Amino acid sequence: MMFSKKAQNLRPSPTVAMNMKAQSLREKGETVLNLTVGEPHFPTPKAIIDETCQSLKAHDTRYGKPGGGKPVREAVVAKLLKENQLSYEPDEVVIGIGAKQIIFHSFLALLDPGDEVLVPSPYWGSYPEQAMLAGGSMKAFGPESGVGFSLDQLKRALTDRSKALLLTSPHNPTGQMLSKEQLEAIARVCREHGLFVISDEIYEYYSYDKPHISILNVCPDLRDQVLLINGLSKGSAMTGFRFGYGVGAKPLIAKLRAIQTHATTCHAPFIEKAAIKALTMGKEAVLDHVLEMKRLRDLCASLLHGVCGIKMPPPEGAFYFFIDLRPFLGQSSSQSFCEALLLNKSVALVPGEAFGAPGFARLSYAVPEAVLKEAIHRLQEFLEKGSKE
Ligand code: PLP
Repeated sequence: MMFSKKAQNLRPSPTVAMNMKAQSLREKGETVLNLTVGEPHFPTPKAIIDETCQSLKAHDTRYGKPGGGKPVREAVVAKLLKENQLSYEPDEVVIGIGAKQIIFHSFLALLDPGDEVLVPSPYWGSYPEQAMLAGGSMKAFGPESGVGFSLDQLKRALTDRSKALLLTSPHNPTGQMLSKEQLEAIARVCREHGLFVISDEIYEYYSYDKPHISILNVCPDLRDQVLLINGLSKGSAMTGFRFGYGVGAKPLIAKLRAIQTHATTCHAPFIEKAAIKALTMGKEAVLDHVLEMKRLRDLCASLLHGVCGIKMPPPEGAFYFFIDLRPFLGQSSSQSFCEALLLNKSVALVPGEAFGAPGFARLSYAVPEAVLKEAIHRLQEFLEKGSKE
């Protein structure tokens, strides 16, 4: 098969590889404790399911409007005003098939061959592949190893090929959140260099110790230089609905809509009323989810410390711990560590290689408490005698 260069360059996702291994163990009858999941373990709220059923019964099943109908874009506008104190118009909003599609299409709209999107390391594994498929590339910057980046590292990464900076807060995989001061400093660099900002805020609702803030709250003057991306997957436990949105300057939003007309036409129209419901109910309706996730985070931090001797500050947001495995690895890699952990203890984590950070592993605590406790117990056994098994 004569694949395109892009298809040849596409790297298989280590997360998917790990899931496939977990799946084949399950088929052999093993009980796999899967801590790789990137979605809340809560059911989608009933009111949202009911709305979807009604839409289906009303035969809302034909092609919908590319970029979303006006009522759902108005619901996004109202949400942004109420929960984020951001003022937009419906024509500055585009709806897409998950935040993932909006990110990919923004790369298609912004990147020419040779153009780079700067992303702090570690990073969500889809960013580099999407940038490459869109014809540009992703340039990671940050510490050689470990997490957190400095302003100097951002400035050093800048070249005349830098087109955009992608920020993720709360962050996958580290759970870190950017502070007002950090955002102000980053914004100064972007202003000075005319760097476009893509702000991935998909984990917004899962912020535990301080309120989520967007770069747009801190620097409203950058309004036309920022594409805010969010969606309902994580916050409203609606991953399967595939509902994301982008908010930004009208010409960019029109381009994203135009790309959709050729790529996918539209999202499923029978999710729009459900999305309006979720957006209107807002964070208040899922507060119990957020509180439960915070409880699991605290439990996870104390178990990792108490049971495994791994001491790390509880991440401020999202639902992951990005664990530094280097003290335990010896000559091994985090990829081999995770494979051996799965094989010997039936516990699945995502190796740091998936996020451009070898030596680490991502643990998702979006699982029932009993699963979390048992998985950390097995992790401790593995750390103690894993190499001898
Ligand atoms: N951005 C980040 C950082 C994510 O971790 C994910 C999903 O895991 C997404 C975007 C995609 O979200 P969606 O389900 O809305 O496509």
